[in-house]
Amino acid sequence: MGKMIIMTAPSGAGKTTIVRHLLKTFEELVFSVSATTRPPRKGEIDGKDYYFLSEKKFKKKIEKEKFVEWEEVYPGKYYGTLKKEVKRLWKDGKHIVFDIEVKGATNLKNFYGDKALAVFIKPPSMKELMSRLETRATENNTTIKVRMARAKLEMTYENNFDEILVNDDLEITLKEAEQMITAFINQPSKKKKKKKKKKKKKKKKKKK
Ligand code: 5GP
Repeated sequence: MGKMIIMTAPSGAGKTTIVRHLLKTFEELVFSVSATTRPPRKGEIDGKDYYFLSEKKFKKKIEKEKFVEWEEVYPGKYYGTLKKEVKRLWKDGKHIVFDIEVKGATNLKNFYGDKALAVFIKPPSMKELMSRLETRATENNTTIKVRMARAKLEMTYENNFDEILVNDDLEITLKEAEQMITAFINQPSKKKKKKKKKKKKKKKKKKK
């Protein structure tokens, strides 16, 4: 049965790099493509990085309850996970990886419980986060300010998650992330554990 790995972090903490690495390393993992109303960045492909939707279309989907979760991440910019996407990927027998912000991640974790591993990626400091955002060619001054303000709020959510990864040295972080994922996907689900326990009990009874 498919599981989910929810990677969440303030913007600039290195979440996307870590997610890309995990997808390359584990062939049983697949990326959940979110829907968004923000415009595509250079090089981004519709259907691969995001499903780029107009605000009108996005809101229609909210009305029709097509999302597992959605958030207005920045003013006027909506992001959400489509129910159809989760169904499609699980049907393919894969474990799904999410790259989403903290509120959506909290909602997904609460909804899917033990089926999901929620990992909070933390920058070593706010100063470091600021400098990472500044060196990112995609950001201008106003969006950096908006993203820093949001990051401050997001840092207060860290205790909602199963694991915390401090992304100081990327090589070390990637290895730690690999170990976490390996342990999680190899761990039997609670249902399977219960079945195993029942089998053991039956065997014991027979012996008696
Ligand atoms: P970006 O514009 O940099 O691609 O994404 C901005 C933020 O939105 C990131 O923190 C990203 O992880 C988050 N995000 C992307 N997809 C979703 C989604 O489906 N739901 C939620 N709640 N956040 C998302």
